Amino acid sequence: MGAHHYNTLQVSIPMQVAAKLSTTDVADTVTSLLRNIRACTICASTLENGPNPVVQFAKSSRLIIVGQAPGTKVHESGVPWQDASGDRLRDWTGLSPGEFYDPKRVAIVPMGFCYPGKGRNGDLPPRPECAPQWHDRVFDLLVEKRLVLLVGSYAQSRYLAGTRAKKNLTDAVRDFRSYAPSFFPLPHPSWRSGIWMKRNPWFEAEVLPPLRKAVRAALR
Ligand code: SF4
Repeated sequence: MGAHHYNTLQVSIPMQVAAKLSTTDVADTVTSLLRNIRACTICASTLENGPNPVVQFAKSSRLIIVGQAPGTKVHESGVPWQDASGDRLRDWTGLSPGEFYDPKRVAIVPMGFCYPGKGRNGDLPPRPECAPQWHDRVFDLLVEKRLVLLVGSYAQSRYLAGTRAKKNLTDAVRDFRSYAPSFFPLPHPSWRSGIWMKRNPWFEAEVLPPLRKAVRAALR
């Protein structure tokens, strides 16, 4: 009898330990993925300022912002979208800085996590190695994802596959309703977007109010 109890105890203790370990493993996956991303050097040899991946996410992130790649300012600060483009994006979406920088609500997962360097016409495109390497792994962890903002044409060509990808950026943005409820295509909010907005006044009048509404609904 005594031996039987002993055996039962011996069995139950490892089970409790196993349960605890699996909870820790889940919590650790976000941590370990972030650690792996921060240690990434896959395209380091092409980056004139070296790697400095700038991302933000947590398991509960509801809104995902897929932009292009950090600029020099963000490369130096390590804070995503802490520049004029970020101010414009916060204005468009109606997100306060507190909401924007809360990974429990907002994930920031650009097409290239590191500053790609300068080209002849401004910053180089996001590194093509980055999204295929990391995006699915990040997205798989976001169990509460509700809405993905596709900011700029690089994000749109990855995520609006098939016939929908044939549209240019302006057409995709104008046709934003056809990508709901999962995606919302937007232009990149760089200084150039001011010129684009002047040419496309429907954006401010007809797209921004539904965008703010969709963002609110995703955060709720
Ligand atoms: S851009 Fe992406 S793939 Fe290249 S070093 Fe940075 S994190 Fe790695």
